[in-house]
Amino acid sequence: MNNKAQLLLKQYYGYDTFRPGQETMIHHVTSGHHALGVMPTGGGKSLCYQIPGLLLEGTAIIISPLISLMKDQVDALNNYGIAATYINSSITYEEQRDRLEKMYEGRYQFVYVAPERFESPDFLRLARSIQLSLIAFDEAHCISQWGHDFRPSYRSIVATLDQIPNLPPLLALTATATKAVIQDIQRLLNISDKHVVNTGFARNNLHFQVVKGMNKHDFLLSYIRNRSHESGIIYAATRKDVDSIHAFLSKQKVKVARYHAGMSEQERKDAQQSFIQDELPVMVATNAFGMGIDKSNVRYVIHYAIPMNLESYYQEAGRAGRDGLESDCVLLFAGQDVHLQKFLIEQSLMNEEKKQQEYDKLQKMVNYVHTNRCLQRYMLDYFSDPHDINDCGKCSNCKDESEKEDVTREAQMILSCVKRMDERFGSGMVAKVLKGSKVKKVLDFKLDKLSTYGLMSKHTEKDILDLIHYLTADGFLQQEDAKFPVLKLTPSSIGVLKGQEKVFVKRLKLSRPMETNVDKDLFEELRQVRKIFAEEKGLPPYIIFPDSTLKDMCLRLPKSSEEMLAVNGVGDRKLREYGHEFLRVIIAHVEKKKSIEV
Ligand code: ADP
Repeated sequence: MNNKAQLLLKQYYGYDTFRPGQETMIHHVTSGHHALGVMPTGGGKSLCYQIPGLLLEGTAIIISPLISLMKDQVDALNNYGIAATYINSSITYEEQRDRLEKMYEGRYQFVYVAPERFESPDFLRLARSIQLSLIAFDEAHCISQWGHDFRPSYRSIVATLDQIPNLPPLLALTATATKAVIQDIQRLLNISDKHVVNTGFARNNLHFQVVKGMNKHDFLLSYIRNRSHESGIIYAATRKDVDSIHAFLSKQKVKVARYHAGMSEQERKDAQQSFIQDELPVMVATNAFGMGIDKSNVRYVIHYAIPMNLESYYQEAGRAGRDGLESDCVLLFAGQDVHLQKFLIEQSLMNEEKKQQEYDKLQKMVNYVHTNRCLQRYMLDYFSDPHDINDCGKCSNCKDESEKEDVTREAQMILSCVKRMDERFGSGMVAKVLKGSKVKKVLDFKLDKLSTYGLMSKHTEKDILDLIHYLTADGFLQQEDAKFPVLKLTPSSIGVLKGQEKVFVKRLKLSRPMETNVDKDLFEELRQVRKIFAEEKGLPPYIIFPDSTLKDMCLRLPKSSEEMLAVNGVGDRKLREYGHEFLRVIIAHVEKKKSIEV
């Protein structure tokens, strides 16, 4: 059986090896057992039911609470040449009838439905009368009232299962499940301990980073400009922030979309579509965005402000790198952002006990920002991951040692300048004085007469400003009034000025190495080919081929159909459908390069 599974993996999906847990899950289900898979986002849960669905006789029913994801999943299956459909409220009644009829005729191998569908007697009758290969519960944590996203309609399916004769194997899949939720799912679906596959939550391709004390706009701009073709999400805490970041980036000619609950449904739909199609590769959004987005090539998720708890953070940040390629999760931290979260908790309608729980969770989130431990491990401990975990070696803390820099002398210059300016000016003016700027305001206030004027003339004004932000973030300076942020010294400043305390800063070196071995021009050409196919078919580009497949093409430079089939992610069907056009472009690119070199 496993040999067959391996063959299907190659033939349909174009992959050579299974990801952790996939093979065991497939084995449990094809041997007729109910099974539960707890695997991280991007771990490849879909294959755990798709391959058994292909191997077993009959139709597989996939229950998913995320209607918006169904079309994507079905498009992806059809694109592999597999008969699949979805039945939900987004299609007309006539269309629903038509698909139900075809389902009755056994024309689909996979049918996606929302939990509510099981409340329809017609659907239940149909499910009882056809041969089912399996029933999969996607996002299975929603079935448990201990989960963070409980759906009563999901749970009520359990009672209806009794009415299905010859019940096929049930398969539950989730990326977020505490011990209590796992036990609840097992009990409800009658899954024995030996058929639970828990690979943990670790995401080895994610580079977690905390960035403190940087000018956030500057950071965003330089970060995005360094990765202009990459797709990313920026999460902001409020609609107002979303609008202002969006306006700022648009003005800087970044191709950026925005999404928040204050926009009309059509506006949100359009924004989401342009992001998914890679037309606007950057999305600025509140946390209203993301549920039901399956875009696999999100290369970074930046949090512009601290979220309320680690559950939300891990879920939102985890939308990066579903395709397994190296991706960043950056949290931009400024102390004052915590006040907003406290305010939101205070203003909420929760009872006192629940509020206290939320404060505790927020505190753990804040501790994440300050911890010196491996960031990935910190989170996995928080989620009680059952595995022995090593430091990730990729997060900003694991990378930290080499990046610490002693800036005590520069800090002293800045602090004494603040003092000499009588603690009456903001960071911009302090930087100008230290730089030795001749702008009118400096001269008007006779700040050019100060002994600290021009003291840091060898540094750029921006570097001085960055350092001031670091000093503010680490409590060596404070800004008292948010409207007129005048810099003041703090008790810690005195220690530095007296030479009793040293100041170290992390010069931010982005830890994800830019990929150097991939030919950027070729990658871009292949992206264009993919875009044309995507437009032609009305599909998201990553469903045609994920980024990982295009990169593998750039590395392998296939010259024939056989060599193309060796590329990770190219199966028989996709080779026939798209392979030749990609092959043509690769061969032409290689030829062109050769002729230039000669
Ligand atoms: P999940 O539902 O667990 O978040 P998906 O099933 O959407 O993850 O899979 C994430 C990505 O990984 C998809 O692009 C999928 O094609 C790819 N993938 C799944 N299994 C494998 C595998 N064995 N080898 C390579 N890529 C895989």
